[in-house]
Amino acid sequence: MSTRIAVLGAGAWGTALAASFARAGQDCLLWGRGAQTVAAINERQRNPNYLGDIALPADLKATTDAGAALAGAQTIVLAVPAQTLRAFLADNLAKTEPHSLFVSTAKGIDRESGRTMSEIIDDIAGPERSAVLSGPSFAADVAAGLPTAVTVAAHDLGVAKALAETLSSRTLRCYASDDLMGVELGGALKNVLAIAAGIVHGFVKTRPELETPDVQLQFFPGTYRSIRDRTLDREPGATLGPTLLRVESRGSVHAASPDPLAPPAILTNVLGTDRDRESALLAMRFTRRLMETAAMRPYYDHEITPGVDVQSDADMLAYAREMGASNWHPASSCRMGPDGDPKAVVDTSLRVRGLGALRVVDASVMPSVVSGNTNAPTIMIAEKAADMILAD
Ligand SMILES: Cc1cc2nc3c(=O)[nH]c(=O)nc-3n(C[C@H](O)[C@H](O)[C@H](O)COP(=O)(O)OP(=O)(O)OC[C@H]3O[C@@H](n4cnc5c(N)ncnc54)[C@H](O)[C@@H]3O)c2cc1C
Repeated sequence: MSTRIAVLGAGAWGTALAASFARAGQDCLLWGRGAQTVAAINERQRNPNYLGDIALPADLKATTDAGAALAGAQTIVLAVPAQTLRAFLADNLAKTEPHSLFVSTAKGIDRESGRTMSEIIDDIAGPERSAVLSGPSFAADVAAGLPTAVTVAAHDLGVAKALAETLSSRTLRCYASDDLMGVELGGALKNVLAIAAGIVHGFVKTRPELETPDVQLQFFPGTYRSIRDRTLDREPGATLGPTLLRVESRGSVHAASPDPLAPPAILTNVLGTDRDRESALLAMRFTRRLMETAAMRPYYDHEITPGVDVQSDADMLAYAREMGASNWHPASSCRMGPDGDPKAVVDTSLRVRGLGALRVVDASVMPSVVSGNTNAPTIMIAEKAADMILAD
């Protein structure tokens, strides 16, 4: 049975969600501030300010009258900007039905009070009326009716489940959770943690005479109990990890049994040469020096691992062996090479030797693995291949 849904805020996300609810046959009214926007949605099925290319469903109706949108609405989706939510809610609370639910979709934390959106709803309307809806998702996908999954969280799991059922449709799948704070902080902080920290990399030469860097530094917005299996530590913090590039050590793979389906024995031989061991020590010591510079010192309190007690070469290498992990990417299994290279599977136009019309275009054609990460070089290979194919 459908219940009335009010969506407050005709920005991209509010419009997209209202379009999804209307398309699913829900009784939904979208409130927007601008009379022109509301008229365009009602008359031309377009929101000229956001998602202008996407045709909104004819069943979607919009209004500039918040009271009209809220009358009889049991579910109130708040799609107004985070910093305006408190005042907006206080202004409109009296127009809402007594037991209606507020579903915040704004990603953010109130600057003045440090409260999350659901905490503001708790304060103003009561915790039994607060819920949040959060992606990862794209408004344009939802507006266009493309498959999307989101999380709906409330203090009570039963409430979250009922809401998830109300808001779900054939293409918008809502999963219920009672981790309100986790869902909200995940949404509000993800860009700071994932994007800002994810792009911080450094390339370092451990010896001045090297032509190219032999160490890659990577920041991670978390602390690890074990880097190797990527389990997180409970202690909050960040990780700065050095990775050796173009190492000398070579491992080997051996058949471990006559059974062809039995897994092979893989001997990684990590830190297997004097030079690699020396590079690892230089890289770890450089990382420590970097964190002690005047620029970095204000941002951290103390080193969690390996910890100040680990100083000798032997102790540091023991730590590297215990905690370290290779950052090498699977590549080069179908290498490109000139005529006469017995190990080359594809020629310099990426054609499989002997077949002519078949090209391989992916990370496997790299003659040897690149020193940094492989995604960008793979895209470059693909763009070059597209040019070669078009030129044929
Ligand atoms: C956990 C992880 C983290 C990574 N992090 C980074 C990073 O931070 N930065 C970075 O630059 N790189 C990173 N990489 C590496 C990067 O993702 C790869 O180098 C890149 O995706 C390689 O592109 P590709 O086209 O060669 O292979 P893929 O992206 O693996 O594409 C191969 C495609 O072929 C499809 N396929 C396989 N078999 C068949 C079949 N028989 N028929 C049809 N389709 C098939 C697969 O489904 C897949 O879609 C990471 C890789 C992993 C696994």
